[in-house]
Amino acid sequence: MAYSYEAPVSQSLFDRASVVTPGGVNSPVRAFRAVGGTPRFMVSGTGPYLTDADGREYVDLVCSWGPMILGHSHPEVIAAVQEAVSRGTSFGTPGEGEVALAEEIVARIEPVEQVRLVSSGTEATMSAIRLARGFTGRAKVVKFAGCYHGHVDALLAAAGSGVATFGLPDTPGVTGATAGDTVVLPYNDLDAVRAAFAAHPDEIACVITEASPGNMGVVPPADGFNAGLKELCAANGALYISDEVMTGFRTSKAGWYGVDGVRPDLMTFGKVMGGGFPAAAFGGRGDVMAHLAPAGPVYQAGTLSGNPVATAAGLAQLRLLDDAAYAKIDAVSAELRSLVGDALSKEGVAHTVSAASNMFSVFFTDQPVRDYEDAKKQDVFRFTAFFHSMLEQGVYLPPSAFESWFVSTAHDERAVERIAAALPAAARAASEATA
Ligand code: PLP
Repeated sequence: MAYSYEAPVSQSLFDRASVVTPGGVNSPVRAFRAVGGTPRFMVSGTGPYLTDADGREYVDLVCSWGPMILGHSHPEVIAAVQEAVSRGTSFGTPGEGEVALAEEIVARIEPVEQVRLVSSGTEATMSAIRLARGFTGRAKVVKFAGCYHGHVDALLAAAGSGVATFGLPDTPGVTGATAGDTVVLPYNDLDAVRAAFAAHPDEIACVITEASPGNMGVVPPADGFNAGLKELCAANGALYISDEVMTGFRTSKAGWYGVDGVRPDLMTFGKVMGGGFPAAAFGGRGDVMAHLAPAGPVYQAGTLSGNPVATAAGLAQLRLLDDAAYAKIDAVSAELRSLVGDALSKEGVAHTVSAASNMFSVFFTDQPVRDYEDAKKQDVFRFTAFFHSMLEQGVYLPPSAFESWFVSTAHDERAVERIAAALPAAARAASEATA
């Protein structure tokens, strides 16, 4: 596919990056391989906008893949960071900021009695499954195809996000021994979970699921699915782990737990709670968390865990996320969903706008999408055309048909108008695209 627009500075940065970094990027989906073209190297962000190295401005619907829920460079978050930095950047000792952030998480999310801070969502899920295995004395982990829990060896089987984007069946480097204890099931299929418990009695340590998946595109849990998981786990002595790295503090004040009220044994968080810095967490039942070192025998640690700058950013961001902030994000999301749906309908493009609270994505199919197999049946080539048309018109979408779109409190009328103005041509491009 030829693109009618160019990004010479980004291209030259990408050329340099490709010499010193595999694929030119530090996280695969950033490379634009699924959509083609030159990845944009961003130099600054303000509110709902990003500016690239060629000086072009975009309305940002990626929001750093979720964290920037207040938009870029929010003055109060920046001030908190500057204040923290002025006192030093890492002490390797406990500090008050991490206590305050943990208290904020515990106060917001009722099932979280205790929480341990880490630096990435990957670390959070990796540690949560280690803890579940240590607590139950069992080895097997159940996960769902299309759910992404970070690049944890045991959880990369049939994962979403970049693994879905690139159609990777698995990844070399994950040994049979590591993956052998992972049971991968179709999403939204409680019968499959029942059958797995029957096939592996007393062997399953935990079921881990995205609270509401956003890594195969947005595919919300069917009514009763999460509650059913919880029930099956409880009946079979396994822990129910809800991965809220993406949904946490985004889909409501209390994340997806605040939406469906299903009480997990353990939960994982990241993205929003770090305010754009590397901070993540896992937490849950006090009796389970008590098994973590130094209180208990399950080892887990981190040089930069609870970093004072990251915790200051996260705390400042969470404190600004009140009911009014969520109402605003929900409203902008609803408006965009209807604008996108209308534009595609007008051009006769088969599509489904799928939402979970304010997270949403567009599947280029009119068939229901309940799991990863359904998601893969969409016309990805139409997304590619749509994506490039939006990019050319100054709207930055996730460069993959299998990712959630994110909005922020900073997406104001002007930003929405710019998106609305770009949609007709993008919908036309999608309709005219050929496989
Ligand atoms: N879990 C979920 C649901 C995610 O969406 C992600 C990242 O996108 C992760 C875990 C991994 O988080 P990180 O990229 O911070 O390691």
